[in-house]
Amino acid sequence: MEKISPLLARLVRRLTRLPGIGERSAQRIALHLLSQEDAETRELSRLLMEAREKIGFCEKCGFYAETLLCPICSDPKRAQGKLCVVEQPVEVLSLERSGIFRGLYHVLGGVISPLDGVHPGDLSIDRLLTRVEDEQVSEIILALSSSVEGETTSLYLGEQLDGRGVSVTRLARGLPAGSRLEYLDEATLSRAFEGRVKL
Ligand SMILES: [Zn+2]
Repeated sequence: MEKISPLLARLVRRLTRLPGIGERSAQRIALHLLSQEDAETRELSRLLMEAREKIGFCEKCGFYAETLLCPICSDPKRAQGKLCVVEQPVEVLSLERSGIFRGLYHVLGGVISPLDGVHPGDLSIDRLLTRVEDEQVSEIILALSSSVEGETTSLYLGEQLDGRGVSVTRLARGLPAGSRLEYLDEATLSRAFEGRVKL
């Protein structure tokens, strides 16, 4: 590695820190970046910086947004009153890819995990309860991971939502233990969604 240009070596090493990029892919990307037009590389670096600066989180649901509200919350065609609760923004991407859900989302920001120092107050649970009131929510679908922490969080949310006149369901059991939605293929995700059960 050190026989090649030190800068190229640094670039490759830096690229291997990206998720899913091994050394060979990193090398291929680095060489591609070097061989393309200046303008292309400049555009890429500008886009990276711009995305970093402008992409924040939706005030309402916590998904990625460039304005106060994300494109999903701003879309009048989405079914109002139906909320799908997920752990992280990436899971909204998985569900949107599957096309199974046409309502709105609520990103919790994680799951309750006392061992990791994550308590209910660290998650956007209060905001969820406020939304249930303000948006006249009639159905909540808990789409959390099938880990112990995910289960604990689902039960906790079930208790908090009890008596608020909202139907609470969760994804079908039988998902691989510990699996996060992010890693499920679309068919498995759709099955779990369609087979959802009352909490
Ligand atoms: Zn939103």
